[in-house]
Amino acid sequence: MLKCRDIESMASEYLDKNLSLRQRMAFKMHLFLCHNCRNYIRQLRTTIESIRLMPQKQPIVIDQHVKNLAQQLKDSTQK
Ligand SMILES: [Zn+2]
Repeated sequence: MLKCRDIESMASEYLDKNLSLRQRMAFKMHLFLCHNCRNYIRQLRTTIESIRLMPQKQPIVIDQHVKNLAQQLKDSTQK
């Protein structure tokens, strides 16, 4: 049975899917039983995903729009 600190140390491997099937099962079992680790993993995953998505996912319409506005603002202040 994994301990909470095992979960912490394995968390990034788990999210990167680098654990063996057996490790993953043990990991999930701990998450199932442990509310704290469940929260921890959820937060970690959200953080990692938002970081990973940042450089690639810019062509969302809203983002592009904001970017254009920012550029216009920049241009107008530089004149
Ligand atoms: Zn735990």
